[in-house]
Amino acid sequence: MPKYFGTNGIRGLFNWLTPMLALRAAQAFGVWSKRGKILVGRDIRFTGECLMSAVKSGLVSVGCETIDLGICSAPAAEFMLKKENADGLIIITASHNPPEWNALKFVDNKGITISKERGKEIEKLMDNIILLSQWNEVKPIKKIENTITDHIFAIEKNVNLGKIKKANLNIAVDFGNGTTSLYLEMFKRIATVTAINSKIDGYFSGRLSEPTEANLSKLIELVKKGKYDCGFAWDCDADRFVAVDEKGNFIIGDKVFALSVLFLFKKTKFHKFCLHRNFINRIKTNGKKIITTVATSRVAEDIAKQYGAQISYTKVGAPYLSEAMFSENADIAGEEVGGVIWKEISLAKDGLATAMKMLEAIAEKPLSTWLAELPQYYNSKTKIPVQKEKKKKIIEKFAMMQKSRNIIILDGVRINFSDSWVIVRASGTENYIRIFAEAKSAKKATQLVKKYEKIIARLIFHETEK
Ligand code: MG
Repeated sequence: MPKYFGTNGIRGLFNWLTPMLALRAAQAFGVWSKRGKILVGRDIRFTGECLMSAVKSGLVSVGCETIDLGICSAPAAEFMLKKENADGLIIITASHNPPEWNALKFVDNKGITISKERGKEIEKLMDNIILLSQWNEVKPIKKIENTITDHIFAIEKNVNLGKIKKANLNIAVDFGNGTTSLYLEMFKRIATVTAINSKIDGYFSGRLSEPTEANLSKLIELVKKGKYDCGFAWDCDADRFVAVDEKGNFIIGDKVFALSVLFLFKKTKFHKFCLHRNFINRIKTNGKKIITTVATSRVAEDIAKQYGAQISYTKVGAPYLSEAMFSENADIAGEEVGGVIWKEISLAKDGLATAMKMLEAIAEKPLSTWLAELPQYYNSKTKIPVQKEKKKKIIEKFAMMQKSRNIIILDGVRINFSDSWVIVRASGTENYIRIFAEAKSAKKATQLVKKYEKIIARLIFHETEK
């Protein structure tokens, strides 16, 4: 049986993810979703309109009530799923990938993104006969024009707009020619905004879509030269968000998540104080839950522990975060690339909501002061080439060697020590075993990586000798 689903939906170049494949996948998803009410949204890529037509045709042909959300961010589409009480959602976006890529991402009626494992059910339907609707059962496609404004309204409802406006913030934003350009007015209403790469453009001619430090050099330079309170940037579909502090220091995704946890808990503390003045000693952040992936920095966990919150780990990938958010009824979830899920908006990573929460925090004190509150860690990493068919075996053998009780075997092996940790994982897309360590000193992080690099090299050697 062909395999279509990757970690997050069906992704490929246009000669692989063809309109025919998109139509078939949409038909299968329509059947899987009990031929109900399905939303469809897309990003700004050139192939988006063509794939969207195929997806809509596929849904209509199996009797779904199909609703076109138009061009929108991924978090906006996921918010609309909840608002419209729909049975499913297909988002056509290749996220941070280069312009020649595209993808179909599937979300169920609860707002949970379909993982590779659950995608197998849809793949099975794709390979079987699908019963089409009778001509008189075909439903007209509806359009929703207010996707972005509804999403903005939900975000604004969950921050203190008055507080942000009062702070007279001066911000720089790099929209990367993506769907976030549609949110310019939201920022303009509350701050003075200098926007770059704000023209929607399927070539991403301003910069590559992935919001890495290297791709954001123009934004960093702008913040360094001007008097800005911060710089913000996203990927094309706006689930990833990163920032630059007022001094021009780039803030990686891990820290964006840790700051988000800090903002949430500080705010909880403040509200509890207002509500229960007489019980200030009983600050109830206890019972709060945060979710993150096994590859995410220890910083967020340290913050969570300071506030008595619980932490749960998942495999790496957005679908696993949204699954855990739902099943554990958690308060916040996030990952190392700057994706944060806010319970009150949806079960999807929402880079726009994260940006507004950050503005609310900056209205209180400078971003660099917030950053100084985070525990300091150093990291080191390496990758070791390995044959594709041996990757799984090596990780299994390595897992069996571990005696410590403080290990997490979910997606590779994460070993936690008192003030450091290391993860050994097989790369999902390349023929490598990756090793990443984080510690309180750069020296310790390097030592950890070297130690496990030797162990893995030995395992690979023995496996190859067989
Ligand atoms: Mg993305």
